[in-house]
Amino acid sequence: MEYDVIVIGGGPGGYVAAIKASQLGLKTACIEFDEDNQGKQRLGGTCLNVGCIPSKSLLDSSYKYHQISESFDEHGIKVSKPNYDLAKMMERKNEIVKKLTGGVSHLFSHNKVEAIHGKGKLLNQNEVEVTDLKGKKKKYQGKNIVLATGSRPINIPSVPWNGTTVVGSAGALEFTETPKNLGIIGAGVIGLELGSVWSRLGSEVSIFEAEKNLLPMLDTDMTRTIEREFKNQNLNIHLGCFVKGSKKYRKGINLEVEIDGKIEKKYFDKVIVAVGRRPFTDNLLDEGCGLTLDEKGFVPVDDYCQTNLDNVYAVGDLVRGPMLAHKAMEEGVMVAERIAGKKMEVNYDLVPSVIYTHPEIAWVGKTEKQLRDEGIDFKKGNFPFAASGRALAAGDAVGSVKVLADKETDQVLGVQIFGNSASEILQQGLIGMEFSASSEDFGLTMFSHPTVSEALHEAALAVNKQAIHIGN
Ligand code: FAD
Ligand code: NAD
Repeated sequence: MEYDVIVIGGGPGGYVAAIKASQLGLKTACIEFDEDNQGKQRLGGTCLNVGCIPSKSLLDSSYKYHQISESFDEHGIKVSKPNYDLAKMMERKNEIVKKLTGGVSHLFSHNKVEAIHGKGKLLNQNEVEVTDLKGKKKKYQGKNIVLATGSRPINIPSVPWNGTTVVGSAGALEFTETPKNLGIIGAGVIGLELGSVWSRLGSEVSIFEAEKNLLPMLDTDMTRTIEREFKNQNLNIHLGCFVKGSKKYRKGINLEVEIDGKIEKKYFDKVIVAVGRRPFTDNLLDEGCGLTLDEKGFVPVDDYCQTNLDNVYAVGDLVRGPMLAHKAMEEGVMVAERIAGKKMEVNYDLVPSVIYTHPEIAWVGKTEKQLRDEGIDFKKGNFPFAASGRALAAGDAVGSVKVLADKETDQVLGVQIFGNSASEILQQGLIGMEFSASSEDFGLTMFSHPTVSEALHEAALAVNKQAIHIGN
């Protein structure tokens, strides 16, 4: 069977590449096989099945419960002691996942993408072998091949997963009871998001992070506030510590953690290992296929996701850059367009990042440290949500917006936000930055009042000491 495009992997990188290629008139197939789901067909990859969507569903449910429990009183609303039904919360999450993954199947039929259920292997630059659930092999020819097999969580030898007491992020989205004591290894995105979920639902959460600084990709003035707020939320984050070993008991697990040079033993009902993810290429490349991985296991590609083989591309978590669904999708679109002869590129300087804690943490572009390292002179403006009428009215006024702009040209080079709706506010900054907006441009733009987005307006004005609602 010959196709214009064969995509291996049905996650955000792969399914978007397949839909776009088909929309551009290319005969396209997408091969998908999920070993973690006993090989049962489920499109949507990590993002829809065990990542972005189920985690946000639990983040939203647990936040609603937390709000009713903790902050309604301040609004003068009296509720008798609230409770929650974890099984129903999980059922709701599973229904959302089902709806969205079913949506991808529907989009495949609508766009005439052929879904092939089986494990794909690249044989050479024009040929893929697919092994189905029964072990039957079949070969497919493609003028172009897109690899999009994503990533898997990293395991650490001192605390191996066992699927019960020690789990990765997927297991932590499936707990049937709220753990009394929850240990998390890694205070990165997953550690903070899932730590928030279970802490809101009543777990005593301890997070062990190897780095001395929390979220080193942000400026320290931002992370100081973030650390303080998470402490208030009872997320016990231990920085600069190493988990040396673990001992499993029938119902729980002991972690041996080195904190300040001393070994401490800590008992948990459950432990989540969230120390990053690795590109997933197990059995993907036939020995003679002509493609070799880099030292970290990524498929090497150029700025256009082209591998060293002429018509073989790779996108998403499988290649360099942040492991984010929107980055994977943009690369999927770019590759499809380039195969169809168009000239699209991805702006890797402006990939937004969001951590969906409450308040949210969102950033794009350069930090102060990066600008200093690159020898770029800059000016900065800050606006605290404590001075935002809308944030105060909502009873949600923690954090601030920070804008960094080139000292000479005034072009906005970075935005960092810690606050309510940071993800949505960031997007406005990002659109401006895509069009090379200056902080003055943001300042001259009218923002609806009262909105939390006004904090971006004021932070941009503050860059040139023109803020109205704080002292300059
Ligand atoms: P994947 O989504 O991993 O898809 C790869 C697909 O390929 C899978 O379906 C797999 O079954 C299939 N496959 C693998 N090997 C083969 C083979 N040989 N043959 C056939 N099929 C194969 N990102 C965000 O941007 N925002 C978020 O809020 C967010 N939240 C997350 C929360 C969690 C808990 C996790 C774990 C991740 C989260 N991410 C988030 C990251 C996001 O899920 C990934 O960046 C994204 O899914 C990567 O897309 P991908 O297409 O490269 O790979
Ligand atoms: P991460 O890279 O965000 O964080 C891992 C953390 O673990 C780091 O802070 C690292 O210093 C620490 N660490 C590493 N080894 C350690 C050890 N032995 N002991 C203690 N700490 C250790 O990775 P993650 O949280 O596992 O998430 C994986 C990927 O999934 C990320 O790349 C992220 O982009 C993506 N993701 C994104 C979102 C989102 O966009 N909101 C949400 C979840 C996951």
